[in-house]
Amino acid sequence: MAYHWPANTVFRDLTLEIEDRCCWHCTQALKVCCHRLRRFFTCGGPVQLLCKLCHCPDPTCAGHTKTVSPEEETALVMPYWVLGWDVFCWLGHRRFARHWSVPQIREELNDHFAIALSVDAIERYVGRYQLMLAARQQDPHALASAYRRAKGLILTIDGLQPEKGHETLYVVRELTQKRVWFAEALLSSTAAEVQRLLARARAWVERLGLPVRCWISDKQDAFVTGIAAEFAGVPHRYCNNHFLRDLAKPVLEADSHAKVKMRKRVRGLRAIEREVLAERGADTPAAVAADAAVLEQASTEAPSAATAGDVVLDYCAAVRGILNDNHGGPLQPPGERMAEALTEVRQSLQRNLEAKKGGPRQRA
Ligand SMILES: [Zn+2]
Repeated sequence: MAYHWPANTVFRDLTLEIEDRCCWHCTQALKVCCHRLRRFFTCGGPVQLLCKLCHCPDPTCAGHTKTVSPEEETALVMPYWVLGWDVFCWLGHRRFARHWSVPQIREELNDHFAIALSVDAIERYVGRYQLMLAARQQDPHALASAYRRAKGLILTIDGLQPEKGHETLYVVRELTQKRVWFAEALLSSTAAEVQRLLARARAWVERLGLPVRCWISDKQDAFVTGIAAEFAGVPHRYCNNHFLRDLAKPVLEADSHAKVKMRKRVRGLRAIEREVLAERGADTPAAVAADAAVLEQASTEAPSAATAGDVVLDYCAAVRGILNDNHGGPLQPPGERMAEALTEVRQSLQRNLEAKKGGPRQRA
């Protein structure tokens, strides 16, 4: 709580006293023995809180050495915090429900509530908020209420390793209610450790009293054996995402080979373009290269050689664009799209040939 309050801060004063002024041990009336002064932010401005601390006046009573704080204090602010609960909740809500960044929260705290906090301090509060949220998520009563209409459970487990050589974070999620049940970082991902997590999941399932429809995972050995042991008879399915990811590698490899082959076949664009430009410079009648024979024919009826040249250059630009297009993932492989686009260009050229007409046309 090493917050530096500016000298000109205006505080609202608040005093709290103990409600139950009776010693727990000897029932004598407690006496105020000292005061605790603390300052914290609320959405309504800074507060200076005076807490009257009490103890039993009888030196022979066990209650004499124990100082009692006013019960209400932690309802306003937690020990050592500089933010009251209202600001704390505002901050957590902006971060996790509205997905604001920490710098954004920092500026808004300053602009809106005149609360000046460092990025580090805000991150610490965000961390505390996450802890409370996780505790709330795991609360058995809250969980039972979230699942009161559920008919069954679909569970998943996955390990995420943020960095090589570091501990792996294992996350158990339930898909029908879209909830993270719990997460634990394991340094050694042995089958026994993983099975411990699965046993914990089983305890949760038993507490909810709902049937598990299936488990989904990437089918690591530890998951396969652990789930079979803890959830005998429950189907264990391979995760779609992992399945696609495993399939993507060979698909993209094959696609890449196909792309290289297509590029080899479609060549000489630069030569055609140079020829068109040279002709235009010499102002000779159209006589286009072999690759663009189509356009040579097309140009016979064209109003001028310049127009036919434009068409050739446009085709070249389009084909170059197709050859350089590298976008698309495994579901839309770039090579496949290249093949489709090149086919469209060929069909377009073919149509021109058949029509024997010049002029710019709609292309692929
Ligand atoms: Zn006492």
